[in-house]
Amino acid sequence: MKKISVIVPCYNEADTIDLFYKAIVRQAKLLQQYEFEFIFVDDGSNDATLAKLRALGSSDERVRYISFSRNFGKESAMLAGFRASAGEYILTMDADLQDPPDMIPEMLSAVVNEGFDCAAARRVTREGESAVRSFFARRFYGIMDRISDVHLAQGERDFRIMTRRYLDDVLRLCEHNRFSKGIFAWVGYNTKWFEYKNVERSAGTSSWSFKNLTKYALQGIISFSSFPAVFPAYAGAVTGAFSIVMAVILLILKFGTSVSVNPLLWIVCLLVFLASLVFDFQGITGAYITQALAEDRNRPQYLIKETDEDKVELHSAQKDVLE
Ligand code: UDP
Ligand code: MG
Repeated sequence: MKKISVIVPCYNEADTIDLFYKAIVRQAKLLQQYEFEFIFVDDGSNDATLAKLRALGSSDERVRYISFSRNFGKESAMLAGFRASAGEYILTMDADLQDPPDMIPEMLSAVVNEGFDCAAARRVTREGESAVRSFFARRFYGIMDRISDVHLAQGERDFRIMTRRYLDDVLRLCEHNRFSKGIFAWVGYNTKWFEYKNVERSAGTSSWSFKNLTKYALQGIISFSSFPAVFPAYAGAVTGAFSIVMAVILLILKFGTSVSVNPLLWIVCLLVFLASLVFDFQGITGAYITQALAEDRNRPQYLIKETDEDKVELHSAQKDVLE
């Protein structure tokens, strides 16, 4: 019997946990051919979340919980759950029922029967969300698409079902500042997308403040884009070219015509040139920092999906997975 690990990050979810548990147990009943484990990660809640989890743990042996010493954030909660999971298939979803549980059988089928390594959900509407938040969220996905190394789907959630090999590769990226949506995309393989209309929280309120969301977005950009760091080099190239063109025009005017040139323009030209040098060096420093960060993250140089083992020299970590 194959096992499905369900990972649920919970921060102050005392009001939603019972509803969520009922809904997920209903799905587990529909999928009787699988064994289930439910791993709830209490991310330092200061309400009755932990007490609820203890109670569930003692009444249902499939329920396990991990409780953090303080609030470390959803990324850390998901990571702890992933590391603790033992299933062949790993499902992660929020505790507030914003990720519709009745999508699970279809998503699971994509992974089990259709050869996908990941089935992921994205919401195509944002009803119920504040207009300001929706606006910035949409811009964020657009910007990430243009400047980063990974493609994020508009409105994508952390609601996904993965195969063990996919998750093992996700865990091979051991960077401290994790931006999972980027990591999921970076790892590759084939993902099938499932679309749905936004669902509002079953109870409680979103724990993401605008400040937290901004930090999250910046984390995504810093983790997967070198563009902001090397951008000054582009600005340097443009201002440098501008100063050279300006100098040529001034020289032509001075020596080729009788027009008198205001000497201040030479100073402006020199200042623009010096500014371009500053931009260039800033961009070069940015490039070094980007490279140092990449070395420090030490992401795998490649991940192998399939191989004829005799002919290919495998990365030792990959061997464990394929064996
Ligand atoms: N969450 C968490 N740690 C946090 C914030 C949120 O584990 O610091 C959990 C939360 O309990 C929920 C999920 O992450 O299960 C999504 O959080 P929320 O519903 O507040 O975010 P939103 O749906 O508004 O993006
Ligand atoms: Mg939510």
